[in-house]
Amino acid sequence: MEIDYEGIKRKLIQKKEELVRMVEALLLEATNGNLGELSTLDTNHLVDTAMNMINKEQIAGKLESIKVMLINIDHALAKLDKNVEKFGLCELCNKQIEEQRLQALPWARYCMGCERKLDKQR
Ligand SMILES: [Zn+2]
Repeated sequence: MEIDYEGIKRKLIQKKEELVRMVEALLLEATNGNLGELSTLDTNHLVDTAMNMINKEQIAGKLESIKVMLINIDHALAKLDKNVEKFGLCELCNKQIEEQRLQALPWARYCMGCERKLDKQR
């Protein structure tokens, strides 16, 4: 399978920006539009701070999944930079991740079978 690494990279960066904007929007909502020094924090701290500030369960859940996704995106970007031959391979069984899955979730770390197994363990 031909992998369009540049396209995937663009997708990942786009998604990351989108997620950061979502966190900022949630924070703005929680602080009534006064972000103050929060706006100087880097992405990971921003998400942690947001999680501490926002107690509403629904928003906290949203932030938690954004955080996981950001970690996975950073991980995927690092792999594209330093370990590109491993990109697209499942980190558990080393098999090629399904093409459709990679298209939809370019930050996926596991193939569908392993992801399902992991889900059961959680
Ligand atoms: Zn696998």
